[in-house]
Amino acid sequence: MATLPEISPRTRSNYEPVIGLEVHVQLLTASKIFCSCSTRFGAPPNAQVCPVCLGLPGALPVLNRTAVEFAVLAAMALNCRINRTSIFARKNYFYPDLPKGYQISQYDQPLAEFGWILVGSDGGEKKIGITRLHLEEDAGKSLHEGFADSSHTTAIDLNRSGVPLIEIVSEPELSSPHEAYEYLTRLKEIILYTGVSDCNMEEGSLRCDANVSVRPRGEKQLGTKTEIKNVNSFRFIRQALEYEVDRQIGILQAGGQITQETRLYEANQGKTYAMRSKEEAHDYRYFPEPDLLPLTIAETWEREIRAKLPELPQARRKRLVEEYGVTEYDAQVLTSTRNLAEQFERAARAAKNPKRVANLVQAELMGRLKARGLEITQSPISMAGVANSADLVESGAISGKMLKDLYDLCFERQEDFAETYRKEKPEQISDRSRLEKIVAEVIAANPKQVEQYRAGKKTIVGFFVGQVMKASKGQANPALVNELLVEKLE
Ligand code: ADP
Ligand code: MG
Ligand code: ZN
Repeated sequence: MATLPEISPRTRSNYEPVIGLEVHVQLLTASKIFCSCSTRFGAPPNAQVCPVCLGLPGALPVLNRTAVEFAVLAAMALNCRINRTSIFARKNYFYPDLPKGYQISQYDQPLAEFGWILVGSDGGEKKIGITRLHLEEDAGKSLHEGFADSSHTTAIDLNRSGVPLIEIVSEPELSSPHEAYEYLTRLKEIILYTGVSDCNMEEGSLRCDANVSVRPRGEKQLGTKTEIKNVNSFRFIRQALEYEVDRQIGILQAGGQITQETRLYEANQGKTYAMRSKEEAHDYRYFPEPDLLPLTIAETWEREIRAKLPELPQARRKRLVEEYGVTEYDAQVLTSTRNLAEQFERAARAAKNPKRVANLVQAELMGRLKARGLEITQSPISMAGVANSADLVESGAISGKMLKDLYDLCFERQEDFAETYRKEKPEQISDRSRLEKIVAEVIAANPKQVEQYRAGKKTIVGFFVGQVMKASKGQANPALVNELLVEKLE
């Protein structure tokens, strides 16, 4: 296998990659799309099958209502227009994991169309069109290894046959592997928020085929594309696309032509390989499924489903910035899962000063996580813990310095804040005469501020409280300190 010619950044910049993605997402229904078999992952092979999903002659499909609702919810979250009527169609092909000889999918009239996803961040946002979103059933799975005679036989597991999927097809509007990566990240985030799928790539609940071509920059017409199949992580998809873009540029630079074909990505080599070319491409002979009625989503049903749409990550991000004053980046982290965003907001709202909670997350939590290479979901300090510590600072029970020390201990011991605080709680000095002495010292050391106070700037008492807390290593009882200070200053 010849290695790729090195493409210089300059040559690369003369071309524009064009990428369109086809994403399959498994819906989290309890039963399959056209029968009542379970969809549970990990059951023994062929334990979850019946005449319908085995494709036995005469068995009739019955559409799963929840699968439709989930698909519509996902389509709405992706800004699609829901078609009042959509049609199921048979996609005919032969493959060992497809006993019926056809897959029930949607073709001419899909469930939903004309959606979009925003990529890029504030200011540099770009809308990527979603051509269509349709419902279909999954096929079975060929097993090539892991059983007694797998050296010379292939086995078929049909547990997955008939599991409900949505296919989400993007317009060819992504113009870099990075943008494709971002699109996938946003897509997954949105689907997870809706709760209709777990988007688990290892278990095959989210699969992506990437179509890619290149064209000279400025050219309007699309180049010939290749399709990269079965890549099992977003990072690998980006890598595969990067490789494929360079491969295509190399061919065009040498005066060659791109062959339209399907290619496989070999992650350990970082290369794509031709799998099958257009010449052997399928003619699926789609036709309407005679055993299923057209699917009608009445306006009332559509409204009912729309009412279940949660606040989506992009909107939530914007609101967190406005409501709590967090940075765009931190809002991104805090909304990366719906669960985390909810934990944060619940904690912040319950705290005395929600902005302080947001501030502590930014100033004290994120940095510590980053320094240790941890995701926020791996934080020893929970959102409730952050809120708890914020209240303690707010009331003056602990100083900012003590909070930092306590956070360090939490990370060291992998302990939540409440636990560490209970163990390390500083002995509070509430002894009047001891505090009076410190207060007197602080007042003596800051004559300028005393003058300001006496000239009417009462708020400067806060400065004195801070000094006393510092002098007492955070142990002074702040309420008492306040009282003593006012007494002495007056
Ligand atoms: P096919 O008929 O080969 O399946 P489609 O028109 O259905 O092609 O498009 C499949 C996917 O490929 C879509 O996501 C689309 O955006 C993308 N696509 C189509 N043409 C190109 C192209 N020339 N370059 C890159 N992506 C493309
Ligand atoms: Mg297609
Ligand atoms: Zn079944």
